Amino acid sequence: MSGSPKQDAEIARILELEAKRQKETINLIAAENYASRAVLEAQGSMLTNKYAEGYPQQRYYAGCPNIDAIESLAIERAKKLFNAEHANVQPHSGSQANMAAYFALLEPGDTVMGMSLSHGGHLTHGAPANFSGKWYKFVSYGVDRETERLNYDEVEQLALKHRPKLVIAGASAYPRIIDFSRFRKIADTAGAQLVADMAHIAGLVATNLHPSPVPYAPIITSSTHKTLRGPRSGFILCKRELASKIDAAVFPMMQGGPLVHAIAAKAVAFFEAMQPEFTTYQKAVLENAQILAAELKQHGFRLVSGGTDNHLILIDLTPTGITGKDAQEALEAAGILTNRNKIPFDRRPPQISSGIRLGTPAVTTRGFGPQEMKAIASFITRILSHPDDKKIQREIAEQVASMCRRFPTPGIDS
Ligand code: PLP
Repeated sequence: MSGSPKQDAEIARILELEAKRQKETINLIAAENYASRAVLEAQGSMLTNKYAEGYPQQRYYAGCPNIDAIESLAIERAKKLFNAEHANVQPHSGSQANMAAYFALLEPGDTVMGMSLSHGGHLTHGAPANFSGKWYKFVSYGVDRETERLNYDEVEQLALKHRPKLVIAGASAYPRIIDFSRFRKIADTAGAQLVADMAHIAGLVATNLHPSPVPYAPIITSSTHKTLRGPRSGFILCKRELASKIDAAVFPMMQGGPLVHAIAAKAVAFFEAMQPEFTTYQKAVLENAQILAAELKQHGFRLVSGGTDNHLILIDLTPTGITGKDAQEALEAAGILTNRNKIPFDRRPPQISSGIRLGTPAVTTRGFGPQEMKAIASFITRILSHPDDKKIQREIAEQVASMCRRFPTPGIDS
């Protein structure tokens, strides 16, 4: 991949550098992935030139027949992939999908329950700095101090106490299965609506490797670029009877013209996710996460909740005395990319944090397997045992580069 040096040499040079960085580092950022060449080509296409406010066959601009065909295909594929009654493929991102779900169901000032950011929830689940925390009265639920898993009885008690209008179920840093059927019972008991946010686990849900929220939540929101391996974007699924409310909340309430190039790329990603190889890939994501978790534990790390059921792992660094920020930086110096993350009941602020979050979706796309997971666990252990040792970081950086050379990066090399 390269830019067009004749037109814009500066951006072309930075794109080259970024392609090199993506190829030469081990990407353990749980929310990232490598989209296919077909996804990149659709997203980088001339469709970006087109205005298409409205929905298929109901546009406010001329010249939309091809756009209608693309969006209809994306909608049909999303519905088929997730077995949903209605899909809106226009949200620009997972955050926009959540905003539209709230707009469809809530009035400003309504009470909502979501998972606390510091226990693994997302900003849009009521963080005070986010629109969600500013416009709605969020009550946060978290994980159990002992098990570090969701305590559904406690969530239910909170719901009965606060009687929210809506409960949102979903997380950014929760390494365990989410029981959407239990969330449905909680919402019903408290007289609340339920929205499931499957942004992180959409690829696992699409391949039946995580229980689907579709039978339980009338509205489901998601981003498309994490385990689902699509373009950077979002979408919403819902029951037929909520379709017009959701569509109106996305356009004209929240957004103007849809990003039709991103919609085409989403259509490609949904198609790719229906292929048998995608299930093989998601199984490998889970297997790699299991191996990486087991190896890290063997090397003495404490994992939040003791392990993982999905694609991500949260290491509690408290016993090592290193902060999440220092660990992230030491690993990055050796070419291993992670993100610092708060752990449940963390005393450190989010900029520092006591944990790091690791995920296997991106490295699995490159073809890394059990052997590489074991090697990566050893790299991490060595670096974090001597976080200030630049020599060790340089040594491991060489091993990282040599490992990366053996695995082409989809979308860049092929
Ligand atoms: N919901 C969850 C659970 C997430 O983890 C994220 C992103 O990390 C989002 C929503 C927002 O997605 P986006 O970054 O596409 O706005």
